[in-house]
Amino acid sequence: MFDKEKIEIPCPGCGRKLAKTIGELRHQTQANEKCPGCGASIDLNSEGVRRGVKQAEEALAKLKRDLGKIFK
Ligand SMILES: [Zn+2]
Repeated sequence: MFDKEKIEIPCPGCGRKLAKTIGELRHQTQANEKCPGCGASIDLNSEGVRRGVKQAEEALAKLKRDLGKIFK
């Protein structure tokens, strides 16, 4: 349900941030993405990226709960 939310993945080569949506990261078929800046390959299945997706989802779920309380 948060598939459209974007998270940023830092390139290990140049530090440039790659914006990907949670949906893309969850359903992506290719495990690597080339950095548009330096051409380094970024591992989209790495532990760090998965953790980032999970954290973003949790933060969004909490936000939604809080908003639900306010507008009740
Ligand atoms: Zn790069």
